[in-house]
Amino acid sequence: MSRSIALAQRLLGVAERIVFFTGAGLGAESGIPTFRGSGGLWQGVRPETLATPQAFEEDPVRVWEWYQWRRRLIRDAPLHDGHRAIADVCRKKGAVVITQNVDGMHQRSGCESVAELHGSIWRSRCQVCEAEAPDESLDQAGVPLCPCGGPLRPAVVWFGESLPPAPWNEAQVELGSAAVVVVVGTSAVVQPAASLTELARRAGARVVEVNPEPVGDARDVIVDGGAAECLPLILAPCLT
Ligand code: NAD
Repeated sequence: MSRSIALAQRLLGVAERIVFFTGAGLGAESGIPTFRGSGGLWQGVRPETLATPQAFEEDPVRVWEWYQWRRRLIRDAPLHDGHRAIADVCRKKGAVVITQNVDGMHQRSGCESVAELHGSIWRSRCQVCEAEAPDESLDQAGVPLCPCGGPLRPAVVWFGESLPPAPWNEAQVELGSAAVVVVVGTSAVVQPAASLTELARRAGARVVEVNPEPVGDARDVIVDGGAAECLPLILAPCLT
């Protein structure tokens, strides 16, 4: 067993409060592409050119089609052992998840406490009246309309938009009181979410990163590998 896995196990085995901070890399082994890192381009396009309010204004149908493609891909993606290990620790130890992901995979794996910093691909919001609704338009062509007549957009945070306050506040509270933060699959370049691990460190948490291309500098343990294999290993002491 590698030294970093043993170190992570030791920290996690005695931790009172564990918080998972997850990003797109957690879904990579389920077949959900990331934005960055190797293999991280969506259908050959840069997400920065599609996931913006300007892109939706200029060509709403193109943006909707991209999201429909992503929804189908996520709907058909299987959970992996890393998702399941996180859900088991949430159930058994009352751990919580703060995620930048919009895919709903944590909820599907059975986590109850999930703060979605960047919204959810499974909800829509009206551009005009801002009413939110679960998205039921998976097979619909074109841009769906709200009962008020306004166009619906995915209820996710696009580049240049601010984060919804409720999950952001929850993230600050949870990360400010964590004993160990497990950072999984994030390139930690999207602010302000990326600053949260620094907040946790300043509040006294130990930080464990799981990533085959580790990026964080202020980490106590770096587990250099994929989430599906490494999470069940490092979390095993929490589940005995
Ligand atoms: P990112 O795409 O910027 O970075 C992905 C990170 O995951 C990289 O550091 C990469 O090395 C790592 N990674 C790749 N394979 C991995 C594996 N098997 N195990 C662990 N780590 C692995 O992701 P980000 O930092 O989350 O930022 C991207 C933004 O894009 C987020 O805000 C998110 O909302 C959005 N996004 C979401 C999804 C999703 O919901 N599944 C997918 C793509 C992008």
